[in-house]
Amino acid sequence: MGKSQRKFYELPLSARLELLAAEAGISTDELTVLDGAHGLTPEQADHMIENAIGVYGLPLGIARNFQINGRDVLVPMAIEEPSVVAAVSFMAKLAAAGGGFTTEASAPEMIGQLQLLDISDLAAARNALQSHREELLAMAGSVDPVLSRFGGGPRDIEFREIEDSPIGPFLVIHLIYDVRDAMGANAINTALEQLAPRVAEISGGRPHLRILSNLADRRLARAQCTIPLSVLGFDQYTPEAVRDGIIEAWAFAAADPYRAATHNKGIMNGVDAVVLATGNDWRAVEAGAHAYAARGGRYTSLSTWSKDEDGNLTGSLEMPMAVGIIGGATRSHPVAKAVLKLMNLSSAAELAQIIVAVGLAQNLAALRALATEGIQRGHMSLHARQIALASGAIGDEVEKLARQMVMENNIRSERAVQILKEWRK
Ligand code: NAD
Repeated sequence: MGKSQRKFYELPLSARLELLAAEAGISTDELTVLDGAHGLTPEQADHMIENAIGVYGLPLGIARNFQINGRDVLVPMAIEEPSVVAAVSFMAKLAAAGGGFTTEASAPEMIGQLQLLDISDLAAARNALQSHREELLAMAGSVDPVLSRFGGGPRDIEFREIEDSPIGPFLVIHLIYDVRDAMGANAINTALEQLAPRVAEISGGRPHLRILSNLADRRLARAQCTIPLSVLGFDQYTPEAVRDGIIEAWAFAAADPYRAATHNKGIMNGVDAVVLATGNDWRAVEAGAHAYAARGGRYTSLSTWSKDEDGNLTGSLEMPMAVGIIGGATRSHPVAKAVLKLMNLSSAAELAQIIVAVGLAQNLAALRALATEGIQRGHMSLHARQIALASGAIGDEVEKLARQMVMENNIRSERAVQILKEWRK
């Protein structure tokens, strides 16, 4: 069989890199940093965090078949969990049969919070600050000329009166800041620092915390897809049974926080892997996701699944997505830099949209498995490979040993060690 006819996963690692570089229109040299020997060095790590003692590696994979807004997209994923990349690639293929993913993103507006204490009359302080709105916005806009040059900057100031708190009432100022292609934490935090003394003068209050909010509910990304009924059936499962099973599984998550936590974890399997691969702050994205999932006062599913008038399955996902293609580790981590080059993005909003599409596809993968054969069967051979690796199998032994254990329906490290011992005698 010719090389070009082989599936991506059937190719040896080096051939995958060649194909990828050709698809992205870059030289394979740009991907040398992925070989494990040329990525992040301990010296670089030492400049990134305190008390560095080395670097920590994770597998980096590519999800295939993603079509987003009519464009074929390469999706790099950094993740240690088996079956995530395979499952999401398969779901992207099902989605492609229905035209792929349609995505959009709101303006990259982050919220910075300034807590204002020791105010006797909240409404009066608020009115005073309100009347200085333009002055405060201009002040906040002067802190990051680079960001302003790219069209970013402060957009608005909002107020929230917190009446019911353990320390009594206080005022919170929200500075709405367009951070363009950055995650934005530094621009926001610096702007808040700048505003604090003037805010104190105007309001008579005492500025306390000055920090961005990770509930980035003005910086949302949305994805939706339609899975044609014709591609939903498999084995003994009819297309209708798969579709309805997925909707019933989603309804469980929509109604029950215990289920919703796991349902959303499945979404984050996809989301975090791309966030991490691109050098972004996955804790920030996690915090935003779960806070957004609880915005109605009860924690619920981030996604929605239903059927359209033709009986096809439709899904959508909306969530905060505070990611950048500039700043943070996106440019200082050599692998993240190569990954971003590979993705060839024009804006952070584009990355945000790809990430939600991946989250939605990953969600579909979990729901489809759970609603039919259960999650364990699909996991079995990948799980067996991990056990084989952990038990000391090397090279071709890994696949062979995994297959043997699956065949015996006995996937345990004791058995793996025993088989290896017999083979190596
Ligand atoms: P950054 O400050 O390194 O880079 C952003 C800056 O790059 C902008 O302020 C701007 O001056 C410049 N820039 C150049 N071209 C730009 C463009 N096209 N669009 C936007 N900006 C452009 O990075 P950051 O995004 O402010 O900070 C991200 C880091 O902050 C992450 O590492 C994150 O972990 C960390 N952080 C997070 C939190 C939190 O989430 N609560 C708090 C503090 C810090």
